[in-house]
Amino acid sequence: MIFQDLNLITPILQALEKEGYTNPTPIQEQAIPSILLDKDILGCAQTGTGKTAAFAIPILQKLHKNKDYSKHAVLKALILTPTRELAIQIDESFASYGQFLGLHHTVIFGGVKQGNQVNRLNKGIDILIATPGRLLDLMSQGIISLRNIEYFVLDEADRMLDMGFSNDVKKVIKELPVVRQNLL
Ligand code: AMP
Repeated sequence: MIFQDLNLITPILQALEKEGYTNPTPIQEQAIPSILLDKDILGCAQTGTGKTAAFAIPILQKLHKNKDYSKHAVLKALILTPTRELAIQIDESFASYGQFLGLHHTVIFGGVKQGNQVNRLNKGIDILIATPGRLLDLMSQGIISLRNIEYFVLDEADRMLDMGFSNDVKKVIKELPVVRQNLL
């Protein structure tokens, strides 16, 4: 199979071509069509098998199709991940696969001052990649609202629980709209 077989829009195919990717990996081949059909997904694959693109590509495509570019960006996609390193990598993936789309994304994590992150958030974003602690902190300050989230990704869900994030994850989920697409 090639990426052209997956019903992807031209700006995403162009980004993939620029990165030198022609064939989807097995998890991408299985997950992308189902995510485009609005299904919830639970996917398991080892690190390095293209899991990030498996959720990032269809989320970018769906956000782009429904986006009103004349309006201020509304936060519609949340990716929760256990570590700062993973959060930064995921943000880079959104930058890469979405390089020909006009969507805004940013990454937040703890251990650094919040000022730059808050400035970025206040400019308006469509996609947020976050570690749980900093997300809950900014939510409690009223800086982030999850009321318009349509796509929720729990990345490395097993590791998240191993690292003791279960209560934090529950608190985040409580703030999400009931109708949403869940990707684990
Ligand atoms: P991940 O498992 O998401 O961490 O991805 C592992 C690496 O594979 C990353 O460096 C991606 O840029 C790369 N990658 C993702 N999808 C593909 C693909 N379809 N073909 C080749 N490389 C890919």
